[in-house]
Amino acid sequence: MLSSNIIHVPLAVYHTFVLEEKYGFNRTTPATFITDILKSWVLTAVIGGIIFSVVLWFFYRTGSLAWVYCWGAVTSFQIFFMFVSPVVIMPLFNKFVPLKDSELKTAIESYAKSQNFKIKGVFTMDGSRRSSKSNAFFTGFGKFRRIVLFDTLIQKHTIEELVSILAHEIGHYKKKHIFKHLIISIFSSGVMFFILSFFINNRELFSAFQMEKTSVYASLLLFGLLYTPFEMAISIFSNMFSRKNEFEADEYAVSTCGKPEAMIMALKKLSVDNLSNLTPHPFKVFLSYSHPPVLERINKIMEREIS
Ligand SMILES: [Zn+2]
Repeated sequence: MLSSNIIHVPLAVYHTFVLEEKYGFNRTTPATFITDILKSWVLTAVIGGIIFSVVLWFFYRTGSLAWVYCWGAVTSFQIFFMFVSPVVIMPLFNKFVPLKDSELKTAIESYAKSQNFKIKGVFTMDGSRRSSKSNAFFTGFGKFRRIVLFDTLIQKHTIEELVSILAHEIGHYKKKHIFKHLIISIFSSGVMFFILSFFINNRELFSAFQMEKTSVYASLLLFGLLYTPFEMAISIFSNMFSRKNEFEADEYAVSTCGKPEAMIMALKKLSVDNLSNLTPHPFKVFLSYSHPPVLERINKIMEREIS
């Protein structure tokens, strides 16, 4: 993993300091770039190391049900990190500051109140440290749930637009999209461990790779190679599901805010600021877009207004 990460460093340098720079997005300094890489390597080694050891241990020590134990263990880790990462891991990379008392905060609170939504925290994040692109997202569960607005987003949008964006994020929560995504991902990791169990120490698999001795850790590596196309198929389905959810969250935002123009303007500004492709090829959308193209989203909102 380390060697593959090292190979990717020059590509990441090119992406940040050549491509993003060329279109005026880059704000990352070389120092931030280097510390980001080092931090993520340490995190991968520690967290990945623990998970990997647990998986290896189950496959060495338990019998035919090892895949079930692995599934259980990985799912527990996953849920644990969904709770703690907004509080423990994400602050390693960005500063999260609770939104200060302002006209914006009052507007957000009064909207949330009107929807019976208990806000646990609205934070601004210093996205501008790395890029001029803007975004907003919902993260965490239960007590730790928070809505995060990039500082770049706040600079460029009016209060009505920001409330619409926030309403869209709350829509994801109210329509249980986050929960459904978790269920789907737990289910697909179960399928993955089940298939993996057929490949552990599988003689034919090892001979296909011209290896004489079988071992659990080599099985995991070889399975990783085989699993890639399968993973791609899964991601197509999860993107389809995600695009459907985006329309639902837009619908929720427009129907609860009653300000379709603000939502449309917010989407337009986001596309301009992030230089989004307005007319991506439908096949590209099918393969890899987690969000519908912005024109489709705007059309849906306008259709709703007409009908
Ligand atoms: Zn969304």
